[in-house]
Amino acid sequence: MTNDLLSDEHRILRDTVRAFARRELGPIADEIDRTDTFPPDLFRRLGELGVLGVTVPREYGGAGADLLSGVLIIEQLARVSGSVALSYGAHANLCVNTLCVNGTEEQRLAYLPGLCSGELVGALAITEPDAGSDAMSMKTTAVADGDDFVLSGTKTLITNGSIADVIVLYARMAGVTGARGVTPFIVERRLPGFSVSRTFDKFGHRGSPTAELRLDDCRVPRRNLLGKPNKGATILMRGLDIERVFLAGEPLGIAEEALALSIEYARQRHQFGQPIGNFQLIQAKLADMYTQIEAARALVYQTAVQADRGAVHKEAAAAILFTAEMATRVCLDAMQVHGGYGYLNDLPLGRLVRDAKLLEIGAGTSEIRRLIIGRELVK
Ligand SMILES: Cc1cc2nc3c(=O)[nH]c(=O)nc-3n(C[C@H](O)[C@H](O)[C@H](O)COP(=O)(O)OP(=O)(O)OC[C@H]3O[C@@H](n4cnc5c(N)ncnc54)[C@H](O)[C@@H]3O)c2cc1C
Repeated sequence: MTNDLLSDEHRILRDTVRAFARRELGPIADEIDRTDTFPPDLFRRLGELGVLGVTVPREYGGAGADLLSGVLIIEQLARVSGSVALSYGAHANLCVNTLCVNGTEEQRLAYLPGLCSGELVGALAITEPDAGSDAMSMKTTAVADGDDFVLSGTKTLITNGSIADVIVLYARMAGVTGARGVTPFIVERRLPGFSVSRTFDKFGHRGSPTAELRLDDCRVPRRNLLGKPNKGATILMRGLDIERVFLAGEPLGIAEEALALSIEYARQRHQFGQPIGNFQLIQAKLADMYTQIEAARALVYQTAVQADRGAVHKEAAAAILFTAEMATRVCLDAMQVHGGYGYLNDLPLGRLVRDAKLLEIGAGTSEIRRLIIGRELVK
C-alpha cells in the first residue's frame, strides 16, 4: 500500500538520501553520539544534496517537493543517525517550512536561499522553562518600540539552538494574555541581546545540539514579525500538526534500522547448533516488529499526503503517537534479539533505544497527543 503512495520522484529521492546517509553518515554516526558533536560542515553537504528546503518553491532555492518527500528524507537519515535526522527536521521543517508558509515575499527572499543552501542553520523556539506542554502560557514578551520589537525572556530545549543563525521564535505581545498574544518572530543570532545561555547533555540524540536561549532586550526589526500580530497561535498549531507528520518519519527510520539489524543477527548468530532465526520465539519477535513498522509506515505516509490537502490535527497526532511508541518497543525487542551483545556500546542498539525514546516527548508528548485525538473524537 505504501508503495502506491510513492511516485518515481519519491523513490529516486529516497534512494539518493539512503545512499548519502550510508556513505557520509554511516562511518561517523557512532562518533557523533559518543562525542556529542555535530559535524560542522554537514548542513552545507545536506544543502548540496538539495534536501534542506524540501518543501520550499524552487525560486527560493528549494526542491519544490511535498511533505511526503520530507518524511522520506528524515526517515532515511534516521536509519543511520537519529541526531542528524532531528537537527535536519528542526531546520528543514520547523524553521524553513514555517518561514516559507507564513513569510512575506521580502522575508522569503532574505532567508530562504541561505537556509536552503546550508549557509544558514535554522531552529524553532517555542518551549520555555515554565511553558512546555502548556505552550500558550509562554512568558517571553515582545514590546513594540518604533521600528522594532524588544524581546525579553528565555527559550529552552531548542534543537540547533547553539548553532542556528535564524530562529523562528514565539513571544507574547506585551499586555495580551492567552493564546491571542502569541506571535512568531524571525530572530537572528547576530542581534544584540540574543545569547546562548546553556547547552544540554542528553540521554539520546547526542550530537544534535540542544540549547537554552536568552533574549535580553533583544531588538528585532518590525519587518521580522512573521504573520500578523496576535495571530501566531494559528501558525503555531498548524506548524505543530505538520511537525508531527514530518517528525514521525524519524521513529519510522529508527525502527526500520533496528529490524534490519535484528534480521541480519538472527541469521548469523548460532546457538544450540543453529541460527537463532530458526527459533520461533525469535521469528515471532521479528514478525511483530515488521508488522508494527508496516502499519506505522502506512499511517505516516498517508497522513503526509493528507496534510498537503488540508487539516490533519488528530491524524498528525495519531501518526506520531503510534510511530514513536512503536519505535521504542521495536528497538527494545531488537536489543533482546541481540542478547548480551545488544547491550554493549560496540553495537548501535543502545543508541537506537535512546534516540527512539525522545520521539515520545518532543513535538508534544504521548500524553498530549492522546488528549488531542481524544478531544477531537468526542467534540
Ligand atoms: C531533545 C529535545 C529537543 C527539543 N527540541 C525543541 C525545539 O526545537 N523547539 C522547542 O520549542 N521545543 C523543543 N523541545 C521541547 C519539547 O517540545 C518539550 O520537552 C515537550 O513539549 C514537553 O514539555 P516539557 O518538557 O516542559 O514537559 P511538561 O509539559 O512539563 O510535561 C511533564 C509531563 O507531564 C505530562 N503532562 C503535561 N500536561 C499534561 C496534561 N494536560 N495531561 C496529562 N499529562 C500532561 C507530560 O506528558 C509529561 O509526561 C525539545 C525537547 C527535547 C528533550
